[in-house]
Amino acid sequence: MTPIIVNGAAGRMGRRILALAAEQPSAFRIVAGVDRQAGTLRDLGIASDAPVLISLPVEPGAAVIDFSHHAAFPAVAKHCAANGMALASGTTGIAPTTIDGELGAAAERIACMHAGNMSVGVNVLLDVAARLAKALGSDYDIEITEAHHNQKQDAPSGTAFALADAITAATGRSRADHVYGREGQTGARRKGEIGIHALRMGDVVGDHTVWFVGGGERIQLGHLAHTRDIFARGALRAAAFLAAAKPGRYVMRDVLGL
Ligand code: NAD
Repeated sequence: MTPIIVNGAAGRMGRRILALAAEQPSAFRIVAGVDRQAGTLRDLGIASDAPVLISLPVEPGAAVIDFSHHAAFPAVAKHCAANGMALASGTTGIAPTTIDGELGAAAERIACMHAGNMSVGVNVLLDVAARLAKALGSDYDIEITEAHHNQKQDAPSGTAFALADAITAATGRSRADHVYGREGQTGARRKGEIGIHALRMGDVVGDHTVWFVGGGERIQLGHLAHTRDIFARGALRAAAFLAAAKPGRYVMRDVLGL
């Protein structure tokens, strides 16, 4: 049984992770939720007697699932490393250099990972998009579009970044080839660019499309999330995996056995 602590417990993701964990008492023991206001998980409509705390408790052996705010990440990673707690963070909007720095240090002491998207489908899509980009070669223009609900705080999405990075690594590009939105007198499209574009509207859970357009044809690879539960289930799988893993930095491919 995996003891879990959810940072960002009162948020959209935190509540779903806790609700799904509460439905599986033989697999997960909820130690606590953490958010900006103290209370109980019952106040949040979750069937658990665990408390909601305003700071992370010390619970060696537990896994912290972090879906909170990018500014919280360095302190969360340091707390987990200092207290022997595994860390699965899905929070987006964190600078890649911050993720690498914090997890690089923490991985010496705990099992940890960050994933901008914890769904099985998207992690398979990352793999397929990278292989397709490589197979099509440099004559195909690649653009990434993403759509999310109108409350999302960061843009583009962590998944759009991950797709761009996977394609970049597979095709020998660099991050200097990424172009975010276009406006004004941009001139003709430069060969090799990867355009990345964010739509914000209504209650869209998360749509991503990778466009590969050559002379006379196009391929579109898309993933549409219908429910946040795909991320919540992935986060719980990650927590169970990390709580049992040796110290180190892991990725969703390890968790899902892809
Ligand atoms: P949300 O705004 O509904 O919830 C965030 C919660 O975190 C809020 O309850 C807020 O009070 C709390 N919070 C803020 N600062 C905190 C701190 N310092 N310590 C503890 N709690 C704090 O947002 P959401 O839709 O639940 O998303 C949360 C994060 O997860 C975002 O970064 C989002 O982009 C990301 N996300 C990731 C995935 C994935 O698969 N990796 C999927 C969906 C969302």
